[in-house]
Amino acid sequence: MINNANTSSAATIADARKAILDRIKIASDRAGVTPPTLVAVSKVQPDDRIRAGLEAGLTVFGENRVQEAQTRWGGTFAAHREGLELHLIGPLQTNKAKDAVALFDVIQTLDREKLAKALLTAADAVGRMPRLFVQVNIGQEDQKAGVSPDDLGAFLDRLRGEYALEPEGLMCIPPVDEPAAPHFWRLETMAKTYGLSGLSMGMSADFETAIAFGATHVRVGSGVFGARDYG
Ligand SMILES: *Cc1c(COP(=O)(O)O)cnc(C)c1O
Repeated sequence: MINNANTSSAATIADARKAILDRIKIASDRAGVTPPTLVAVSKVQPDDRIRAGLEAGLTVFGENRVQEAQTRWGGTFAAHREGLELHLIGPLQTNKAKDAVALFDVIQTLDREKLAKALLTAADAVGRMPRLFVQVNIGQEDQKAGVSPDDLGAFLDRLRGEYALEPEGLMCIPPVDEPAAPHFWRLETMAKTYGLSGLSMGMSADFETAIAFGATHVRVGSGVFGARDYG
């Protein structure tokens, strides 16, 4: 049951959360795996829906933009921040690294050495280092961020060897116009090859498929909060 843009009542979001969690459970049982963490993607959503999500018991949130996330979780909902886990799932510019390190518990979009350096400098200044996922440009799309699958091994070697950074896992966003399953399978294979336990993959339309391929984190936005209104 996916709620739509004009039904944002608290009950609707509580129901949608429950429906997604039920589907996660069913898909996990079918695959014989531990249910993944539901990362509720709150980007662009209005405050009343976020509040409803918090009241319904959501504790893990995903955001695309550092500044929007600061306004929301360092501002409007700062009083709720403790006990929540915030994931950055959008591209990160090096000049925002310090803000990101200060705000987020997990950065899922590490994809270049320059950013690794900036995160380390920021971590020194802030006194904390978020958990890290490496984003893989799984469909090798020009417009998409992420390390190319061919370069992943070398990139991980550099992170581990040069910077003593140990990522928790891999993250991907498959091409919108292709079946997701082969891409999820490839990301799962890469995580195994490189000894990484985390797999952030699957969104509202395909999280059950991602679970079948071992997702540990699914990123669900519209399925929980309703359609985003970019207007
Ligand atoms: C927006 C977004 C999502 C959530 O998408 P839905 O289709 O609304 O579930 C997941 N992952 C990333 C990286 C996103 O930018």
